[in-house]
Amino acid sequence: MSAHGTHCPHCSRPAMARTSRQITPTLRETTWVCRNEFCGHVFVTMTEAVRTLSPAAIPNPEVSLPFTPRRAPAPGGQLDLLDDPPSETSQTVYRRTADGGWKTSPA
Ligand SMILES: [Zn+2]
Repeated sequence: MSAHGTHCPHCSRPAMARTSRQITPTLRETTWVCRNEFCGHVFVTMTEAVRTLSPAAIPNPEVSLPFTPRRAPAPGGQLDLLDDPPSETSQTVYRRTADGGWKTSPA
């Protein structure tokens, strides 16, 4: 599902995403299961899109996020992409609709 996971808050071992659902266009709830067989903790996280670094080319009118541009690109044009890892909600899938428009489709 996601390239990056999370860790159990109790034993700090990696956890596995069990279910995930979109609450709002900017908020996603994920249920995790600790992979440590001696722990077994099941817990829920919320992943929220909180600000925009680079505006969307096909913005959703329901989404309003504060715009905080990245630092100026380094000489040579390289962007510093390490500041903010992508969030779950950045992975919204855009699909073509029958009338030629765009529809967002949370996984
Ligand atoms: Zn654990």
